Amino acid sequence: MSYLVLARKWRPQTFNDVVGQQPIVRTLLNAIRRKRVAHAMLFSGVRGVGKTTLARIMAKALNCQSEDADVPCNVCKSCQEITAGNAVDLKEIDGASNRGIQEIRELKENIRFFPTSGRFKIVIIDEVHMLTNEAFNALLKTLEEPPEHVYFMFATTEIHKVPITILSRCQRYELKRVGFDTLSEFFARIATSEQVGISPTALEMIVREADGSVRDGLSLLDQMFSFAAEDASGAVQVKDEDVVQVLGLVDRQVFVTLARAAMNGDLARCLEILEETYLLGVDLKRFSDDLLGFFRGLMVCKTSREPGQLLDVAAHDLDAMMELAASASKESLYQFFQVFMQGAEELRHASQPRLALEMTFVRASQVGQVMPAAELAQRLDKLIAASGGVVPVLQGQTITQKKTENLELAFRGSVPADGANGVVTREPEQVLTPAGPPAVVPQYDELPPGPEKIEKPPADQRVDEPVSSPGSGGRKVVVELHQRHVIRDWASFIDYVKERKAWMAQTLRLCDNPKLEGDKLLFRFDNPADCTLLSQHDNLKALTTFAQDFFQTELCLEICSIACETGEGDGTSPREERRALAAEPLVQMVTEIFDGKVVGIRTGPKFR
Ligand SMILES: [Zn+2]
Repeated sequence: MSYLVLARKWRPQTFNDVVGQQPIVRTLLNAIRRKRVAHAMLFSGVRGVGKTTLARIMAKALNCQSEDADVPCNVCKSCQEITAGNAVDLKEIDGASNRGIQEIRELKENIRFFPTSGRFKIVIIDEVHMLTNEAFNALLKTLEEPPEHVYFMFATTEIHKVPITILSRCQRYELKRVGFDTLSEFFARIATSEQVGISPTALEMIVREADGSVRDGLSLLDQMFSFAAEDASGAVQVKDEDVVQVLGLVDRQVFVTLARAAMNGDLARCLEILEETYLLGVDLKRFSDDLLGFFRGLMVCKTSREPGQLLDVAAHDLDAMMELAASASKESLYQFFQVFMQGAEELRHASQPRLALEMTFVRASQVGQVMPAAELAQRLDKLIAASGGVVPVLQGQTITQKKTENLELAFRGSVPADGANGVVTREPEQVLTPAGPPAVVPQYDELPPGPEKIEKPPADQRVDEPVSSPGSGGRKVVVELHQRHVIRDWASFIDYVKERKAWMAQTLRLCDNPKLEGDKLLFRFDNPADCTLLSQHDNLKALTTFAQDFFQTELCLEICSIACETGEGDGTSPREERRALAAEPLVQMVTEIFDGKVVGIRTGPKFR
């Protein structure tokens, strides 16, 4: 007896045999039982998911001679004829090779006659989208008013190529790819029944390769059953390495190890694994595509709430992927994806795929940890808060084109961890030194006594004015404010601002002598740069609101610098310009973040 391939041997003959597609099976069964079967049905879906199989079972059920409700019976004459493929009342047409109007005319002629033995004439057209427009038009009229004794069943992998006029006259069934677990169980059942041993990993690789198509999976299984060697007892055993060798596939565990090494920047380990993979005879282009798919999977793990539903992978793989995804930021994963996508593209045209792949890993191992700008800014705020330093960080501040042209910054190092101490001091020569001892912070307490004795009052002693907790939403009580109140509450005010705008508090710390003149609160700064920034409309507005809320009185603010007052340093002399540039908050922020230092400041034309 000739060998029957698995796909034919295991072709479902009843609704119960169908692998996956439960909702459709149920609908069809109900339609049969309730005698509500449409005269034109269209099954769509990717190859090998059971479109024509379902159509054939449907045909059997319609013509089954059994009196039982459970159809098809598979024992009556009609059922057996259909199974054997010689039923006269079932006409199967391959749309790809019979696509012209002539074939459709013949078909129409044929269905005019009543069925010979069965109850109905059934026409199955596979790959129906291949029919010509004329052929479709010839079909239209028949579909509109099909004879009582005729049923049409169409199957297609490309439903979008079927004219809408045809679609609208059919009952449509969209078959899904068969899920990982369903396929695994089915294939394991076949292996047992065929008395072939198969390792779990080998089975998993085959299922993954089948990609939801039962037929693809079955032919792979066929291939493996033929290839695998027999063990001592004479039973065929499919091992992992067999699958790797025959299909050029890789165990997912390899991707996990490889991805982890790349994320850790461990290039040596990456190259080692690549070498091992290469020696296994893996198809590198395929490998690179799978790797890209793996990183897509990591991204899904990172972002999706139900990654298991989006990724068709085995449970233990999903766990490993979740763990891996948790160890990297979304941004890093995206970077990796980009690198591997570029790598996969390059590999397609590479004459030396192995070298191309290795270079992709060189790039990947340099991705490192990427951090979103917002998080960076947050860390920076924490950094400043922790150091109590003097780095004025200004949100939304930009260095103008002119300034950047004139600026040379050298950076080294990486992003410091939370709370790392790397305060930049501002020295007279305007050379910023990194990571030295923290600058002396002009803390309020340490200020030389001003005209009035400075004391930092305990919070609970603030009794002489009816200040409820600022911003508590209570009614605003306007009280008379005195200079001594301002001085006394200055530190508390800075804390209050710090809770709302950390950078602003940092800048305010640089103001050592807030002064109240009437209803005007005067902030004076040594450095014109600080003054400029706070004076910006939005910043000034925010600060004014803070001051009004905190001091519970209608205030207006004035911000100036000593330099402004004395008329010196309008920022035009080279020295002043350098001074201002070095004090640029953005420069300071960047210097701090990258643990770098300003090695030189050139003003004037770039080429000078
Ligand atoms: Zn039957």
